[in-house]
Amino acid sequence: MKNNSTSNIQHSTLNIVWHNGYVKRADRNRLNKHKSGLIWFTGLSASGKSTIAHLVEKKLHEQGIRTYVLDGDNVRHGLNVDLGFSREDRKENLRRIVEVCKLMVDAGLVVLTAFISPYNEDRAYVRSKLNDDYIEIYVKCSVEECERRDPKGLYKKARAGIIKNYTGISAPYEVPDNPDLVIDTEHCDPEKAAVLVLEFLKSRDFLRFRN
Ligand code: ADP
Repeated sequence: MKNNSTSNIQHSTLNIVWHNGYVKRADRNRLNKHKSGLIWFTGLSASGKSTIAHLVEKKLHEQGIRTYVLDGDNVRHGLNVDLGFSREDRKENLRRIVEVCKLMVDAGLVVLTAFISPYNEDRAYVRSKLNDDYIEIYVKCSVEECERRDPKGLYKKARAGIIKNYTGISAPYEVPDNPDLVIDTEHCDPEKAAVLVLEFLKSRDFLRFRN
């Protein structure tokens, strides 16, 4: 773990005790009239995670649902600015993201994330931390098509060797074994993709708060 001076310190020696507030997650969910949860988009860079997550957010927002999109690059600008793309750093990047997601879900939000999250082990970790509050959506798109889109010119740089450890080019992407939903963005436009996600959430009754 990088730059984490407390990593080997036990909570008991720090006298850190979790403080339970008067207002609980269930109270917030009841007030909001919907359940909170985490919708995790995984896929190659340029597969469409961010585009779809933001479109889904817009549609949920219009239905009065409290949402927030956590985007890979944005998180790396601030919270995880000290982390790179080695296996160890990717793990720590994810660990911090999951903690933020848990707080946001506790705060009553429907969180949509757009992280490449290329490793099965890491996605299994997220699921284990969120359990039933987690939905995994694999945004499927071939490397060839992602490379053709290349909205940020990053595949070009990766091919030229300017960017190292680039997922799909010089670092692996492990296709999810058992995602809750697969959206193939080579065969549908962003609008249709967002509608498919909404239909799926409805079919699972994912956002219904039960007292
Ligand atoms: P990611 O977040 O996975 O890196 P982005 O959403 O930033 O990907 O970029 C995906 C690009 O692919 C955008 O330029 C978007 O317009 C385009 N695109 C084409 N078809 C689709 C689709 N069906 N769903 C999402 N994006 C698509």
